[in-house]
Order: sequence, then C-alpha cells, then structure tokens
Amino acid sequence: MNQEVEIDTSIQTVRGMHDVLPEKAAEYLRTETRAREIFAAFGYREIRTPILEFVSLFERALGQSTDIVEKEMFTVKDRGDRLLCLRPEGTAGVVRAFIENGFAKKSAINKFFYCGPMFRAERPQKGRYREFFQIGSEYFGNEAPAADAETIQLVSAILHSAGIDSFEIQLNSIGCTECRPKYQQILTEYLSGKSDKLCQDCQKRMKRNPLRVLDCKIDRNILEQAPKSQDSLCENCTQHFTQLKGLLQATKTEFKTVPGLVRGLDYYTRTVFEIYATGKTGAQDALAAGGRYDTLVRELGEENVPAVGFALGIERVLNLIAPDLNESTLSSNNVTIFVAALGTESTEKSFQILSELRKNAYSADGVLNNQSLKSQMRLANSRGARFCVIVGEDELKEKSVTLRDLKQQSQTKVPMEELLIHLKKVTG
Ligand code: AMP
Repeated sequence: MNQEVEIDTSIQTVRGMHDVLPEKAAEYLRTETRAREIFAAFGYREIRTPILEFVSLFERALGQSTDIVEKEMFTVKDRGDRLLCLRPEGTAGVVRAFIENGFAKKSAINKFFYCGPMFRAERPQKGRYREFFQIGSEYFGNEAPAADAETIQLVSAILHSAGIDSFEIQLNSIGCTECRPKYQQILTEYLSGKSDKLCQDCQKRMKRNPLRVLDCKIDRNILEQAPKSQDSLCENCTQHFTQLKGLLQATKTEFKTVPGLVRGLDYYTRTVFEIYATGKTGAQDALAAGGRYDTLVRELGEENVPAVGFALGIERVLNLIAPDLNESTLSSNNVTIFVAALGTESTEKSFQILSELRKNAYSADGVLNNQSLKSQMRLANSRGARFCVIVGEDELKEKSVTLRDLKQQSQTKVPMEELLIHLKKVTG
C-alpha cells in the first residue's frame, strides 16, 4: 500500500486544518463578541455569505495573477461540472451579495461586517493555516476619506478589544484607474532594468501585474529603490490620501506611511493598509489588512459604488494574547451547580432539579449515571462547581436536598421546593 493512501484513510485532520477545542473556542467567541459590539457601535450590520462560491467570482474579483487564484484555492466541481471553491477571502462574496440583492438601490450607504472561515491552500506554518477565521467589514457608497479613516479606526478598536495594544498601522495609496497605469509603466521600466536579479516568481509577475512585484519578500533589497506609487498619484488621489492622513492625525490614530505597500489583490484602489503587532510579541505576518476598492462593484455588476473594507485574522490575534483565564475559560467551561444523584431511584428527581436549575438560568450539570458520591464530587470539582446539590435516599424521603458549598466546605439540608429561593440568597 502506498504512503498517500495510508495517510488519507487515517483519522486525522487534513493538513493545515485545525480543531478548535473548547478552551480555544471560548477565546474565538470572546474576540467575536467584542468585535460585534464594536461593529454595532460603528453602525455595521452582519452579513453571512456562503462558504462555497463560483471560482469565476474570485478570478474576476481578485485577479487571475494573484497567488490566491493561481495556486491557493480549494476547488470542487458540482454535479453540473461547474467549478466551485471554498471562499479564500470575504470581500468578493460580500460584493456579490451586495450586487445580487440590489443593496445599492435600497440605500446610498451600506455597512456590513462578517465573521467566518476562509480557506487557502498555503504552505502551513505558525500563523498561516489552510482554514482560518476572519472578522471583516465592507463599507459601500462612500468615496470620502472619512470612510477609510472609519475602517482603520474600526479595526484598531477591535484589536484593542481583543487585548492587543501595541501595533503599527502601515498605510499607502496606490492610486486610481487614472493614475495607476502611469505608475505601472514607470515601475515596469525600472524593473525591466533589474529583471535578471529578480526571483523567478517576480519575473512572471513583472509582465502580468508589476505592482505585485513590490509585495515580494525575496527581492526586498532591489525593490527599496523602486519608484513609489505616491509620486505618481493624480491630484484627486493625492488629495484623498492627504485628507485621510489628516483625519487619522486629528483623532490621534498613529500610522506609518509605507511607500512600498501594495497588497496582493487586484481590486484595491487608492488606500491600502496593513497592521502588524509591535513590541516583544511582534510577528512578521500582518494581523489585519484592507483598503479601498472603488471599481470592484462596477466590474462585477453595473453600479458604480465606491467601497472600503478590512479583514482581520482571528488566529493571528489569538496567537499573540495569553488566554484570559478569568473570563473565557471559566465562563465557557465551568458550571455553578453540580447535581449528584445517589442511587437509581433519585435519578428522576435529580433530572427534574437539573432541568429546573437550567430553566432558571443557572449553569448546572450532572451525570446521573449511578456513580459513587466520591466520583461525582470529583467531577463537580473538576468542573469548577461552586455548589453541589446531592439527592440520595434520605433526601427523597424527606423531600429535601443536601446543598454542599464547595468553596466554604459546608453543607445544609434544604427543602426541595425552597432550593431556588435558597440558591438565590446564597448566590446573590
Ligand atoms: P488578506 O485577506 O490576505 O488581506 O488577509 C487578511 C488577514 O487575514 C491577515 O492579516 C491575517 O490576519 C489573516 N490571514 C490571511 N491568510 C491567513 C492564513 N493563511 N492563516 C491565518 N490567517 C490568515
């Protein structure tokens, strides 16, 4: 039997995919919940788009020569032989939904956020997975720099809320359909003179999309001297960029202008930004990224709708922060009350008590599988329970329960029908 087949049939995750185990899941939930509160404060509404989309959507939106489209999509054929893929990013799907549902006709301004898994067949390494979760926003219908500034503030607020305080916002403008071709030409001329020194990928990129050469991690030294997009911006783009920087400065949002920043996707116009962690936790990979895409809605549909958005990788954020034991682990894992039944006769009553506690919004649990009191107490402790409700033969006869306070190490008998009132008193 060959090695491949053996690996395929074993019970293990697919390369680059990860189980999110309960403690980690609590961290995801906490990050998402805080982000949702911030989105609400900024006036964004949630949108959920399918994980499966047509491959052609991404080919048209992201560009044929991007890494994602060229080599990173997980594709499948449906029964009608149509080529589908697991979405590699969020913007294209949201733009498709925006067009398909006629949002431009409903309102001049539309602000959406999304949260969910994305898939890219990249080489797996720390912070780079084949399934990863993004939180992102798309702001449609506002060409003004205020929308770009808002997007940057939004992602900063989400990073702060996740517990990341030291990060650097890198900013650039790559111009519009008017001034970008001119810059591309200047850049191509410069790169042509250096083509023999460029890596193989860049030699190809140079012909298909010269701006993407600037993204190369290998040819950094050669690219330092390359002409900058900022020097070729038309008047409108210059003004837009200047105003954006002014708005950020006016709100004390620190940023750094990085003239070589271009981003890997074709749909960006004008503003592009990336956010990196700094300080001792600083990592090479961006925590979040985004920019403006004023022509994408037009390219995929009919309307001319400017837009700007960002996407943040939840795993990259969580890799930087220590799990918050007080909040996430306890709230998701621990129960307040553990119900222990002694003997099969008390199972039914115990189950009723358990249901009643849960109905009254207590976090309650119990196994009711006829284990000894000792094992049930061990379980109660391992679940971090504060109280244990014990129902044995005597209690059944007396129509009472024994309420053990696991913190105070004390216990008392309480009539069954007074259990809720009693608990209310002791839990405040
Ligand atoms: P992008 O869609 O490439 O602009 O990426 C936006 C953000 O998504 C990045 O800044 C990362 O935080 C996250 N991200 C992108 N690719 C991956 C990946 N393969 N694994 C984990 N996170 C990723």
